[in-house]
Amino acid sequence: RGGPNNLPIAEVFIDDDDCEEKKRIKDKPRLVVLGGGWGGVALLKSLNPDDYHVTVISPTNYFLFTPMLPSATVGTLEFRSLVEPIRRVLSRVHGHFIRAKAEDVHFSDKLVEVSQLDSRGREVRFYVPYDKLVIAVGSVTNPHGVKGLDNAFFLKDIDDARKIRNQVIRNLEVACLPTTSDEERKRLLSFVVSGGGPTGVEFAAEMYDLLNEDLTRHFPRLLRNEISVHLIQSRSHILNTYDETVSKYAEDRFARDQVDVLTNSRVKEVCPDKIVFTQKQEDGSLVTKELPAGFVLWSTGVSPTALCQKLAHKLGSVQTNRHALETDTHLRLNGTPLGDVYAIGDCSTVQNNIADHIITFLRTLAWKHGKDPETLQLHFKDWRQVAHDVKKRFPQSVNHLKRLDKLFAEFDKDQSGTLDFGELRELLNQIDSKLTSLPATAQRAHQQGYYLAQKFNKLAHLSEGLSANDIRDGDLDAAAYKAFEYHHLGSLAYIGNSAVFDLGEGWNLAGGLWAVYAWRSVYFAQSVSFRTRCLLAMDWAKRGLFGRGE
Ligand code: FAD
Ligand code: MG
Ligand code: MG
Ligand code: MG
Ligand code: MG
Repeated sequence: RGGPNNLPIAEVFIDDDDCEEKKRIKDKPRLVVLGGGWGGVALLKSLNPDDYHVTVISPTNYFLFTPMLPSATVGTLEFRSLVEPIRRVLSRVHGHFIRAKAEDVHFSDKLVEVSQLDSRGREVRFYVPYDKLVIAVGSVTNPHGVKGLDNAFFLKDIDDARKIRNQVIRNLEVACLPTTSDEERKRLLSFVVSGGGPTGVEFAAEMYDLLNEDLTRHFPRLLRNEISVHLIQSRSHILNTYDETVSKYAEDRFARDQVDVLTNSRVKEVCPDKIVFTQKQEDGSLVTKELPAGFVLWSTGVSPTALCQKLAHKLGSVQTNRHALETDTHLRLNGTPLGDVYAIGDCSTVQNNIADHIITFLRTLAWKHGKDPETLQLHFKDWRQVAHDVKKRFPQSVNHLKRLDKLFAEFDKDQSGTLDFGELRELLNQIDSKLTSLPATAQRAHQQGYYLAQKFNKLAHLSEGLSANDIRDGDLDAAAYKAFEYHHLGSLAYIGNSAVFDLGEGWNLAGGLWAVYAWRSVYFAQSVSFRTRCLLAMDWAKRGLFGRGE
């Protein structure tokens, strides 16, 4: 027992003398990973087996291949093809798994407080001690304070996908009953998706495919024109964080397929039988509308988990971001002892220092011209150069920076055609506060997990012959390993039998059936294990041969 709440400490529960391998790592630094999602698993996959005593804590005992989740909801893929047991992932590093939820971290005692229900359904709590802690707990769906969300479905987890699949089938079956009125049938067959990001768009596309390809065959009673798919989006375009051509392609595609896209619309309430939203008209006025709905999917972005909110609050003023835990560029959680605690994936963000970056750039520019930066007058042409440089360094911000030209005019208060240092600084601050730094994607979580594994491998190597105490100490991290750099590899979103690609600046491809295969093979290669790859391949083959399995 011990720690601030005098709870049992878990190390006594864990038997490390079972076998040779476990004995070998018994006295290695204790690496505790919270969460077995994209970030956590990427880390485990690249960590050297014998350098750390690894423990994963997570309430879910499997890794979930989220990009394929929308397909699973309509039966294109089997659920088991999308998951991989955490214990299987852990066996390579001879790690331990504790199925429990992290509730708190006591940074000065280096203890994670976890909770779990015992066999009688009572909550039990205990501590797990760490030398290094990696927080990779992901995010939760953002409720945006909307009423009646218990009438909506979410799509985060395999259970969500299962519930969705059951509800969709149920709606179709009830719609077929001879006792169902025409009006009720139309409502049951009205599928509404709230959120025009990749998940919402992919789901709407999958839904449309399902209704068109398979259902008219299996449910001949249902008329195609009674079925409708609606997508509600608060912005003026769907996939608005993507390149314009991509978002345009998606919209055209949906228009052709008769997926009803409602832009500039904000959901106010989800009722059991309808959805209420306001739509902004061209003249700027708001009109309240209703749509009968048999099914509503809520997928409107992410917000932090309770654990992360608690930790951010606890760390106080060094944590200024409302949306995620802030780390430095070495992914160390700001406000904690250096080299103890890291945060990766959706739950985290790397502190934005675009402004610093630009200032450095300007200093260099001034210096080149032999001038004092404080007296610098920045011409539009130089500004374009700066903008170009920023885009290269921060590809995920391209969208926000599209408006950089406009910003120049806006901040040139005296309309001199140049920005002085003061004007520039204000502009930079605005850019900084607008940029949401890193995207909440599997791609990013994966890169960060991989980065930490490489770093930890290196650190373990450096410290051979040193004690665990030395490893924990100080800024070894920064000395031993470079800062994290995000590489934008493009985003993919599925839109009804063709994938939409956004590969960053100047590299957009949209359309074509071949794209489906490219799209599949990308995820294929990213997919974690050979087992999963085989299962996915079999599902696709089955779909090709027999249609979806309902
Ligand atoms: P997650 O993968 O969410 O993992 C979090 C883990 O932490 C889970 O194991 C969870 O059980 C565990 N956990 C939660 N709370 C606690 C706690 N208190 N204590 C301990 N453990 C906890 N990204 C892409 O790049 N491309 C895509 O095509 C794509 N499609 C997506 C489709 C869907 C339907 C969804 C939902 C997401 C999609 N994403 C996609 C986003 C991607 O899944 C996330 O960005 C990614 O999962 C983030 O990884 P993570 O490790 O931070 O969190
Ligand atoms: Mg994770
Ligand atoms: Mg996951
Ligand atoms: Mg995370
Ligand atoms: Mg000026």
